[in-house]
Amino acid sequence: MRKPKELKVKPIKNGTVIDHITSNKALHVLKILGLPDGKSRVTVAINMESSRYGSKDIVKVENRELESSEVDQIALIAPKATINIIRDYEIVEKWKVHLLDEVHGILKCPNPNCITNKREPVKTRFYVINREPVILRCHFCERLMSEDEIESQF
Ligand SMILES: [Zn+2]
Repeated sequence: MRKPKELKVKPIKNGTVIDHITSNKALHVLKILGLPDGKSRVTVAINMESSRYGSKDIVKVENRELESSEVDQIALIAPKATINIIRDYEIVEKWKVHLLDEVHGILKCPNPNCITNKREPVKTRFYVINREPVILRCHFCERLMSEDEIESQF
């Protein structure tokens, strides 16, 4: 049986392990993923040692396999996160989250006069103009949004 060696926390039998989360961002990650969901067992490890990045957070979600469309959203605040899908203690799938060039619908524009904040519902749309740190630009009003502003929404 192949053991997931790099996972310092106790292995899970089935589910998803999100590794290499930027340290102290695990709780934001949970919010983006809508966890805990009342069903899945969730373990959070904050400020763990990481040979690659100094320190990191880890989130384990038992008995739930997250889809890439769900987890790619966490690239906004944890751009180096890796997703491990575990079945019967083995990693059957592994990938890095990928921040897309555009972010649709997840965030609100901080500009109160932006059309997306008016009464008629217009889906927000931001362009990723910088990745580290993340800076977004609103498609409609061109307002820039910093990482702090992104985090304050979760
Ligand atoms: Zn805007």
